[in-house]
Amino acid sequence: MNNPFNRPIYFDNNATTACAPEVFEALKPFFCNRYGNPSSIHNFGGFVMPEIEKARWQVAELLGCDNSDPNGRCTEIIFNSCGTESDSTAIRSALKINPSRRKLVVSKIEHPAVLNFAHELAKHGFQVVEVPVDAKGRLDMDFLTDAVDHETALVSVMWANNETGNIYPVEEIAEISHRFGALFHTDAVQAVGKIPMNMKDSKIDMLSLSGHKLHAPKGVGALFVRRGVRFRPFLIGGHQERGRRGGTENVTGIIGLGKAAELAKSYIEIENSEVKALRDYLETEMQKRIPKIRINGDPENRLPNTSLISYEFIEGESILMLLDQYGICASSGSACTTGSLEPSHVLRAMGVPYTAAHGAVRFSLSRYNTRQEIDFLLEVIPEIIAKLRSYSPYWNDK
Ligand code: PLP
Repeated sequence: MNNPFNRPIYFDNNATTACAPEVFEALKPFFCNRYGNPSSIHNFGGFVMPEIEKARWQVAELLGCDNSDPNGRCTEIIFNSCGTESDSTAIRSALKINPSRRKLVVSKIEHPAVLNFAHELAKHGFQVVEVPVDAKGRLDMDFLTDAVDHETALVSVMWANNETGNIYPVEEIAEISHRFGALFHTDAVQAVGKIPMNMKDSKIDMLSLSGHKLHAPKGVGALFVRRGVRFRPFLIGGHQERGRRGGTENVTGIIGLGKAAELAKSYIEIENSEVKALRDYLETEMQKRIPKIRINGDPENRLPNTSLISYEFIEGESILMLLDQYGICASSGSACTTGSLEPSHVLRAMGVPYTAAHGAVRFSLSRYNTRQEIDFLLEVIPEIIAKLRSYSPYWNDK
């Protein structure tokens, strides 16, 4: 059977998303026509600055920020290059403003943007505590509560996990952190645009987001820093971003991120109804058609678009290669760990048996996916799994 769509069928939206056509239209003029530097004195450049400020408001609106200072300026959003930069900046800042506190508390299932940086800090003498999760990927809150103390500079726990889609109790964790005077940062790269947010009434101090996960271009991100939270920049240079992130602004990226944020706000209902219904349909039908599969994560508390399915006794990578022959794009867990033979650190932390962890495939949907695409996947995948299992020495259901 051939791919009837004559284009890729894209179920890998947690890795990256298509730039929305409306976003592309909004940023296009800023490449070849309105290309001035927003910091320039002349009008040609200066006229770009209000567009950056508009984007800042659009992002603040998506996050539900209390987004203006007493002078009516939106000050809680700092634009930068990506989610990784946001995470690094937040962690560095918290450690710098509180140098006597040498402890960092993170979860075991953080993205490498947090986890690998924490490991690096541990090599430099910081105490890093990693909070474990249970078999469904839920955080051990008692462990976390015991771990935070007056030595803790920062607690960093992601809002939603990129592999399982699990959503974490970030408000509760922020409150625990504050009891001991620690700051709380959340990597919300996967959560922003998928679940509603109300930062105005939140206790979160800092939040990371990334443009390319919400239909903006790659190479742009933002860090939310609550007004009143002390902050030290990572990139020190010019006075851009009110001195909080040096470097000429990625104007097209920022304008694209602003437009994408505006769109994401208007589509959040759709994410949680139509996209979720498609994901649920995918899972229900998959379970009916293929034996011995397991859906990883917390069924009660997951992003509406994510499904991490283990096909026991076979390799996720082999499944991906055969799906790719039909133009179907998915992922074997985090795109960042692909290429390594180790199963993902998230599934290992959850204690998923190796036979299931190796066979994990992540399908992550977006508002651009259709029921017809899911039906095509459901038509081709049972045969792929049966074929691979017939070669597997571990599969004894022949
Ligand atoms: N945090 C999470 C949860 C992610 O899923 C990703 C990307 O996959 C990142 C951080 C890194 O974002 P970026 O690719 O923008 O650096």
